[in-house]
Amino acid sequence: MALIIDLQGFRGSENEFIPKEIAILEENEVSSAMGDDINNNAATKFIIKAPYDLKELPRDIRRQNLWLSKHFHGISWDRGTTELSNINEYLEEKLKSRVVFCKGKEKFNWIIRSMPERSFFLLDLENYGCPSIKVLRKQYGELTRCDDHKGVCSVENVHLFADFIREKIRKNVK
Ligand SMILES: [Zn+2]
Repeated sequence: MALIIDLQGFRGSENEFIPKEIAILEENEVSSAMGDDINNNAATKFIIKAPYDLKELPRDIRRQNLWLSKHFHGISWDRGTTELSNINEYLEEKLKSRVVFCKGKEKFNWIIRSMPERSFFLLDLENYGCPSIKVLRKQYGELTRCDDHKGVCSVENVHLFADFIREKIRKNVK
């Protein structure tokens, strides 16, 4: 009953995390990743609408966000049409009664905060020795990313995490 989730985002006025891209890899795809075939197109992805105009942010935060767009995930602040409230509703339904994997304290905390009445079990892969994306790419090769942005991509990340989990399980089984 596992599910893997990853987010890419920006900074808000209080330096808080603002999600922009969310990718979810579902149980059956995780299971198949534990078998032999990995379907790189199987993740569900959303690009979330900006909560307000970039101009409303303090200059230093704005600069950080422009840097993220240019040099990190390649997604601009203004992209996306999905309302965050719809995503929260969707996630609440999707994550129900699941074991959910994410990576990193900030994303972990965002998921917990967004779904205070959660009925799922959230695990941070960092507590299980999951290395950086750079290292995962070296280990498992670069996987399919979205074709509409260049840079770090949640779709690739959830598949890399699936590979990591698969290897971890295999090692434990042996
Ligand atoms: Zn992407």
